[in-house]
Amino acid sequence: MKIYEVMAKRILNKTRIPGADFAINHYSGCQHACIYCYARFVCRWRKQNDKWGEFVDVKINAPELIARESAGKEGNVILCTTGDPYQPIEEKYKLTRKVLQNLNKDMKLSILTKSDLILRDADVFRRFKNCELGLTITTLNEKIKKIFEPFSPSSYARLDALRKLKEDGFYTYVFVGPILPYLTDLEEIFREVSPFVDLLMFEDLNLNSCRKEVFEAIRENFPELETKYKNLSKEFWLEKEMEIKKLGKKFNKPIKIYFKHLGSLKFR
Ligand code: SF4
Repeated sequence: MKIYEVMAKRILNKTRIPGADFAINHYSGCQHACIYCYARFVCRWRKQNDKWGEFVDVKINAPELIARESAGKEGNVILCTTGDPYQPIEEKYKLTRKVLQNLNKDMKLSILTKSDLILRDADVFRRFKNCELGLTITTLNEKIKKIFEPFSPSSYARLDALRKLKEDGFYTYVFVGPILPYLTDLEEIFREVSPFVDLLMFEDLNLNSCRKEVFEAIRENFPELETKYKNLSKEFWLEKEMEIKKLGKKFNKPIKIYFKHLGSLKFR
């Protein structure tokens, strides 16, 4: 793993992510190295030839920049979109923590992570009047999790983090994204997380940056699904949408569905 300490020119950037006005990416690159990660497109912008999951650019001046850039700003801000804010190096750098300590507390904060290290910063989240804390869970099957999300904490550690955050009085959400066709058990996730979350969000599989990687993982580990993945269609996702809506009613939970990558489905 290569860690590069770099100086950023800006840190609060406008984003087209649904529900967010700004994104903060003080880490670019991610030790979690998920197979399906579409943030791997950042590799194209770098001078170095490192592969996704083998580098992190650490923007060490992010705390100073965010104090200046967020002053007087309004809107929703999300951490992060090109690297997990609580990936393992956060234990050493505490950069997420420092950014949150300096971020304008009147902005609406949204955190999304795969790590229970988020629990460390409960005191800092309390600075914000409006804050939502999310953990990604794409499967509760640890064998499947290890294939697609090899270096992140277990789904059960994330579930436990959601439980603790909820007990601490925070607004919590689970991000089920991407749904892994024929592998993500939506009903199981609804059943297990519903007691600890205020909202469930769902995203489809975006193969634009990771078609080769996902296909290799399927061929190697689930050869029986190879043809099904090749034939993924709009109808498949429309059925998933119906299933999620039904489950939302069954478990009496608010849902948000972000299915938008139907054009990226073809493997060939
Ligand atoms: S944790 Fe998020 S940013 Fe990191 S590799 Fe996985 S999907 Fe990408």
